[in-house]
Amino acid sequence: VGSPYRVPVASILRDVPSLLEVDFRAPFDAEHEFPPRGPAETDVFSEAEVRVRLRLQSYRGGIRATGEVEAPWHGSCRRCSAPVLGVSRVRVDERFVEPPGVDEEDYLIEVDEVDLAPLVHDAVFLDLPLAPLCREACRGLCPTCGVDRNEETCDCPPARDVRWAMLDALVSEPDPINPDDA
Ligand SMILES: [Zn+2]
Ligand SMILES: [Zn+2]
Repeated sequence: VGSPYRVPVASILRDVPSLLEVDFRAPFDAEHEFPPRGPAETDVFSEAEVRVRLRLQSYRGGIRATGEVEAPWHGSCRRCSAPVLGVSRVRVDERFVEPPGVDEEDYLIEVDEVDLAPLVHDAVFLDLPLAPLCREACRGLCPTCGVDRNEETCDCPPARDVRWAMLDALVSEPDPINPDDA
C-alpha cells in the first residue's frame, strides 16, 4: 500500500491532454519483484534509493512518460575485480497504453493507475555498465602471479596481449604503398 511507483492516473486520462508530474525517491525494488543478477554482474541493490522525476502526459488511449531516473549501482572492476560504485542517470521516454497494448514492449495502464516500477527497472538496467573500471588507468592484476599492479610491481615478464601482438605485427610490416619508405 502506498508505493510511490503506483501513480493514480484516472484524472489525466479523463481530461486529455493533461499533465501529472511525479518526483520521488524510493527503494529500487522494495518488493523484490525483479530477479537478482549474477554475482559478478553490475547491479542495483534492492534497497538502494532511486530518484524518479517524470512527466506523465495523457493522450487518447495512453500516457507518455518522459524524464529522468537516477540510480546508484555497484559492480566490480573488469581488470582488478575491486568494487566499483557509480550512479546511472537515464533519460526516459516511454508509453503506457490501455490493455491489451499494441506489442509486448508496451507498459500497460492498470485500473486507473500506472506502475512505474517496471519502467524504472528496465531503464536503469539497460544503462548499467557491463564491465566497469575502478579507474580509467587501472593496471589490473598480473596474469602470471596475481599481484594488484595498481599497488605492487612484480618481476614477471610482461604477458603478450593478443591485441597488442596484432598491432605490433601491423606496425612492423613495410608500408604496402611505398615499400621504400619502410
Ligand atoms: Zn581496477
Ligand atoms: Zn606478476
